[in-house]
Amino acid sequence: EKNFLEVDKLQVAFRTDKGEVVSVDEVTFQLKQGETIGIVGESGCGKSVTSLSVMRLLGRTGMIKKGSIQFNGKDLTKLSEAQMREIRGNEISMIFQEPMTSLNPVFTIGNQMLELIHLHMNMSKSEARAYAIEMLKKVGIPRAEQLIDEYPHKLSGGMRQRVMIAMALSCKPSLLIADEPTTALDVTIQAQILELMKRLRQESNTAIMIISHDLGVIAEMADKVLVMYAGQVVEEADVFTLFDEPKHPYTKGLMESIPHLEHDSQKKLFSIPGTVPNLHMMPKGCRFHDRCPYATEKCVTEQPPLLSIPDNHNHRVRCWLLDEQQQQTPTDSRSEV
Ligand code: SF4
Ligand code: MG
Repeated sequence: EKNFLEVDKLQVAFRTDKGEVVSVDEVTFQLKQGETIGIVGESGCGKSVTSLSVMRLLGRTGMIKKGSIQFNGKDLTKLSEAQMREIRGNEISMIFQEPMTSLNPVFTIGNQMLELIHLHMNMSKSEARAYAIEMLKKVGIPRAEQLIDEYPHKLSGGMRQRVMIAMALSCKPSLLIADEPTTALDVTIQAQILELMKRLRQESNTAIMIISHDLGVIAEMADKVLVMYAGQVVEEADVFTLFDEPKHPYTKGLMESIPHLEHDSQKKLFSIPGTVPNLHMMPKGCRFHDRCPYATEKCVTEQPPLLSIPDNHNHRVRCWLLDEQQQQTPTDSRSEV
């Protein structure tokens, strides 16, 4: 099966008053139709910037410096702004935690939804209204028949977020980008939204990029996972391999941050000591070295490449330790890092 989205060696930089900073560095991944990729990492690791690059929503200060984004036969990095506007909201939809393209305060929910649906779904006005109400109900909005005629300021933040999700899903995009889509919502609504995304994927073969710091959401939704740290991919694998056999010390640290409530409600949420490096002062060598319990001399001076594991070429890891271990014990790549 052909790849539907191919991001190749993407590099994104932002202009700041202290100079240019690279916030996404040589990120590569592929996505097939109907497939879901999860992107995890702490905030500031380049997850959101990666997804905003696909939408080409980098603002005035952001720019794609290198690489390509092949989407459905087009290189998105080469399209004009007018061509991108046709793709956004139609072929590619995005859901934000804090809706950036927030609802327009001077129009009712219905006006805004109907315009979008009318534009992209080839429906009559009355069909579009019935469909909008149905979508609002699907995202768990009570009294959708009344709410559709309200103005956005009458709604709570959580309700507005659900309206945004209903709008993003209503055009049945072929690619849905969801950046922390359910973080601000309570668990019941969160589960409903995830179900809705799964149904969309099933019905419309939608490809999904889901960005989350919540590994539970990733485990439930993703087919494969990218782990990002300091603008780079540090590990990539299918979801089962990643959770069963994480190789990168950063990935392992993230896994240990999941609270094991069912085993011991007193257990503290473990988090990796230290912080994500400042983009203006990116450390030499491995970007994780000052937080890594396994760091060696080499880690401090030389940057590890992203390499495939010999017995699983879809599992890629950026860590010197793995390289050495494979040289020492080539037959046992499953040993603990
Ligand atoms: Fe840790 Fe070194 Fe691996 Fe970086 S390369 S993650 S510092 S062991
Ligand atoms: Mg983010």
